[in-house]
Amino acid sequence: MELCIKNKPKILITLFFTACIACKPSIQTKITDNRGCTKMEKIHKSEEEWQKELDPFVFKVTRQKGTEPAFTGKYYKHKEKGIYLCICCGQPLFSSATKYDSGSGWPSFWAPLDNNSLELEEDRSYGMIRTEVKCARCDAHLGHVFEDGPKPTGLRYCINSVALKFQAEQ
Ligand code: FE
Repeated sequence: MELCIKNKPKILITLFFTACIACKPSIQTKITDNRGCTKMEKIHKSEEEWQKELDPFVFKVTRQKGTEPAFTGKYYKHKEKGIYLCICCGQPLFSSATKYDSGSGWPSFWAPLDNNSLELEEDRSYGMIRTEVKCARCDAHLGHVFEDGPKPTGLRYCINSVALKFQAEQ
């Protein structure tokens, strides 16, 4: 909840609390921006603009909700210290400090760098009910989050390598 009310004047806390409760999905750390819960400045580009800028497979995964094949992504077994940025807009998303080996075949994190950098949305595609993880700044599809992760959050952010760009610790 502090995600949504951080740095807000006290008088707004109750209003935001109500709004955040109203739009809060099932996972505790979920955020959405459609009721004023986040403050991330949005990048708006057309599908054509993204297609011109991005590698075709990056475009397919991040702008068309694709998935890279399991165990094939370049960051699946990546263990360097640093941070992972959104491939589309450069927003810092995850740290190597919360990366762990989930055995799933995709890079897995038990927490994001900042919950405000992500947006979570219910995904009912392929006959499953999952929680989609998107970049809050540019709406890139990143992957999904599940509630079978390790402590302390119990969450598993299962992210496509192709949606990320690694920046090594200086
Ligand atoms: Fe982004």
